[in-house]
Amino acid sequence: MDQTRSRELFGRAKTFFPGGVNSPVRAFRSVGGEPFIVSHGKGPFLFDVDGNRYVDYINSWGPLVLGHAHPAVVAALHEQAQLGTSYGACHEREAELAEVVRQLFPSLELMRFVNSGTEAGMAVIRLARGFTGRRKILKFEGCYHGHADVLLAKAGSGVLTLGLPDCAGVPASAVQDTLVAEFNSVESVEQIFSACGEEIAAVILEPVVGNCGLLVPDPQFLRALRAITEKHGALLIFDEVMTGFRVHLGGAQALYSVRPDLTMLGKVIGGGLPGGAFGGRKEVMEQLAPLGPVYQAGTLSGNPLAMVAGLTTLREWRKPGAFEKAAGVTERLVEALRSGAARHGLPLVADSVGTMFGFFFSPSPVRSFRDTQSADKARFNRFFHAMLEAGVYFAPSAFEAGFVSLAHDGEAIEHTLKSLDAGFAAARASA
Ligand SMILES: *Cc1c(COP(=O)(O)O)cnc(C)c1O
Repeated sequence: MDQTRSRELFGRAKTFFPGGVNSPVRAFRSVGGEPFIVSHGKGPFLFDVDGNRYVDYINSWGPLVLGHAHPAVVAALHEQAQLGTSYGACHEREAELAEVVRQLFPSLELMRFVNSGTEAGMAVIRLARGFTGRRKILKFEGCYHGHADVLLAKAGSGVLTLGLPDCAGVPASAVQDTLVAEFNSVESVEQIFSACGEEIAAVILEPVVGNCGLLVPDPQFLRALRAITEKHGALLIFDEVMTGFRVHLGGAQALYSVRPDLTMLGKVIGGGLPGGAFGGRKEVMEQLAPLGPVYQAGTLSGNPLAMVAGLTTLREWRKPGAFEKAAGVTERLVEALRSGAARHGLPLVADSVGTMFGFFFSPSPVRSFRDTQSADKARFNRFFHAMLEAGVYFAPSAFEAGFVSLAHDGEAIEHTLKSLDAGFAAARASA
């Protein structure tokens, strides 16, 4: 595969951006080599500047449930751009999107739009502390909630991929009230609550973890968190930035029937434009300015282009059979990963929830962050590069989830399945 032009352009990017990128995981540091430079995306495919085609299982890290440049989304954006790209004032599209969000997530009695998942994370923590008058926040090892200081302790995604145990520049004082428990371990949560339950403002988690690879929750674990937080007067926050509209149209809260007090949304809700939201119980959300004393604001929040992209995306995604079709393809992919690895005698754990999937080259079940550390990274890296060479783009890290879109049918999935043998053969060969 010729990537000459990509090499040139990445060299140029390095003269402008630290590591050549505007977000760390894009740099391929974990898997080695250098990233290709995208020229455009269409449906399930990304094309690079050398004309190579890749089946894209990242989908902009989750947002693109319809695939790239879906005609309905592109048309809606054209139409909206002519009416203005930002108002900094109230407009009708905000309520239209909010209505769809609340139909799918009834727990968002009130909500507020922001521009990213990180912003939603900053806001829910401030709000939970403001509402409860308490300081401590309980999170889980391997969960990523954006890059706010207070949530960077033992985080997943790029922090994990780059092996940064703690982030430089985050003062100890910023995380002194951040407590960390083990995912899927009710015991680890109970221990912390019995030590300082009355000081805990909120428990925050990815209800299905996607930022240290895919971790599937024990439904009993989620129910226990609901009961424990209620008992101690702490809020339960579901970070559904990745899982929202993805694991189920109504997110993990609908899939597992657990109603959190607050929810963070991002990724899909922006339909490929910068967008996010948080919301939840009315009496909690009413603590926000201008109604209450907890300040939160944003120049571009409720941006009309993002509203329209999110709205159009969700309208298509909600059409009967759409989600089921993409989830079916996801299952087919996971089955093929399992059987392909077995054919090559490779231990592999692969799972999916809705349209989100993950796999580890690991001989034993992976249920917590600690378990992920037994995965064979070198093997993953060989698999990744062989698949890329075959024109299939998985996340460039052994610790990221993958995503399937409505566009991943026909040629995209068939090409992927055909290419797996080459990937597993490379994974098996020693370095
Ligand atoms: C991506 C992600 C975030 C951060 O969202 P950004 O839009 O990248 O700031 C937060 N939480 C989860 C679970 C995510 O996957």
